[in-house]
Amino acid sequence: MSINPDTQQHASPVAHFGFDASCCFIGGVWQPASGGEVLTLENPSTGETLCAIARGDAADIDAAVIAAQTAMQTGWGRATALERGRFLSRLGRLVLDNVEQLAELEALDVGKPVKQAKADAVALARYCEFYAGAADKVHGETLPYLEGYTAFTLREPHGVTGHIVPWNYPMQIIGRSVGAALAMGNACVLKPAEEACLTALAFAELAAQAGLPAGALNVVPGLGAEAGQALSSHSGVQHISFTGSVSTGAKVQASAANSVVPVTLELGGKSAQVVFDDADLDAALPFLVNAGVQNAGQTCSASSRLLIQKGVYHQLIDQLAGRYAQLQVGDAMQDLALGPLISARQKSIVEQYLSQGSDLDKVAVGVMHDDASPQGHFVLPTLFADVPPDHVLAQEEIFGPVQVVIPFEDEDAALAIANGTPYGLVASVWTNDGARQMRMAKALRAGQVFINNYGAGGGVELPFGGVGKSGHGREKGFEALYGFSCLKTVAVSHG
Ligand code: NDP
Repeated sequence: MSINPDTQQHASPVAHFGFDASCCFIGGVWQPASGGEVLTLENPSTGETLCAIARGDAADIDAAVIAAQTAMQTGWGRATALERGRFLSRLGRLVLDNVEQLAELEALDVGKPVKQAKADAVALARYCEFYAGAADKVHGETLPYLEGYTAFTLREPHGVTGHIVPWNYPMQIIGRSVGAALAMGNACVLKPAEEACLTALAFAELAAQAGLPAGALNVVPGLGAEAGQALSSHSGVQHISFTGSVSTGAKVQASAANSVVPVTLELGGKSAQVVFDDADLDAALPFLVNAGVQNAGQTCSASSRLLIQKGVYHQLIDQLAGRYAQLQVGDAMQDLALGPLISARQKSIVEQYLSQGSDLDKVAVGVMHDDASPQGHFVLPTLFADVPPDHVLAQEEIFGPVQVVIPFEDEDAALAIANGTPYGLVASVWTNDGARQMRMAKALRAGQVFINNYGAGGGVELPFGGVGKSGHGREKGFEALYGFSCLKTVAVSHG
């Protein structure tokens, strides 16, 4: 039995969906890992055991790839774009019908406050809806060519796509990668993070209920070094999408290189919000803080650097400190501003960074809720001011609720600081000067630039991905559909 009887109440959302959390989902069937081994999932708010999950390994990945290949040759591979869209539409409806339960599952598993988890579940439904509508709207072109020829292009699926997903936004990342891959007619093998895989399993169950043919979506939980490595190096996989750390992303790319398959890497960042003296500070303030502490800062597109022009610097620091003082931290189920970090390991990484900030001006911290469990992996949100741009806290991705404020003189200085890290995922600019908005949008080295707003990874419709160490390739929007398909050129000689 997969559910820990002592913590049955925590596992009740699993019971709602009716799948066995200790199983893999392969070829439309729930089955234990071939080695019979399990891993234990923890509730990061309390440190209690949630339930057991399958420890899938190379043999399970192999079975999943074979199931996906079979699906490509049979039912799923023959589905028309219209049928794929209808399937995604039904799946989106089912996700919407189960938003509360998916949110509860994610809150328990990831430690994400319920409201934020609910937003992720709604986003998952929205990805299904978006790609349902897009499935039959991606097409090739006819090309002017030689006399006596007709030439055209076809957009075809890669075949079997591998999806390696981290623990911070399982639902959103599954929605954007699996949703787009299925819309283009690929069959997917999904390896969720060992620390948070319950909503991936629930998604598979909902997909089956929506009528997805067996093998079109397979989910193999397990360790990164085992199941993840096996997936990224499997010769039967034709495309890999990976979200996670730079070091693991590099390994995934290296193993995929052996099979010479395309890889999409989304590897996080050190994203800046740049506030000029003429900005609407009241409008900016909530974005400045929320984009840094959302999901306890464990967000690839978190805005961990705040660049503030000197004319409004002190005023804005006071306002930021005021907001920080309101940020409460506690159990995800209490739905406060911040929940715990995912694990003791992640907490220790963040605490080590905080200790490297002992030479800095710590201007504000949040508040621990009285009921927060001592076993929960909680870290108070922390704001440092007057931080030198080359300080380790201003350069490295911390992946916790830590923001640094950096003052600047003018536009040139702001650009040099904003572009002065190895990353380039997201940036935003707060200014009412239209010419400056355009100059900054063009000069910022980032995959997404927001003007007078900040969408931390948001926007199902907006292509998303980075430059530099933030990775390469684009997910979301129509752009993802091009990434999850191959372009074939056909030239017909007819005289
Ligand atoms: P990883 O990059 O190691 O994990 C991301 C995914 O890759 C998980 O599913 C993981 O599985 C899998 N994985 C791990 N090793 C391999 C491998 N050798 N081959 C294939 N897949 C593998 O991130 P961590 O969870 O270890 O977090 C470490 C740091 O990474 C964080 O502190 C943060 O800085 C960054 N990070 C960035 C994210 C982003 O959104 N860009 C998301 C998560 C982390 P498993 O979890 O089972 O090991």
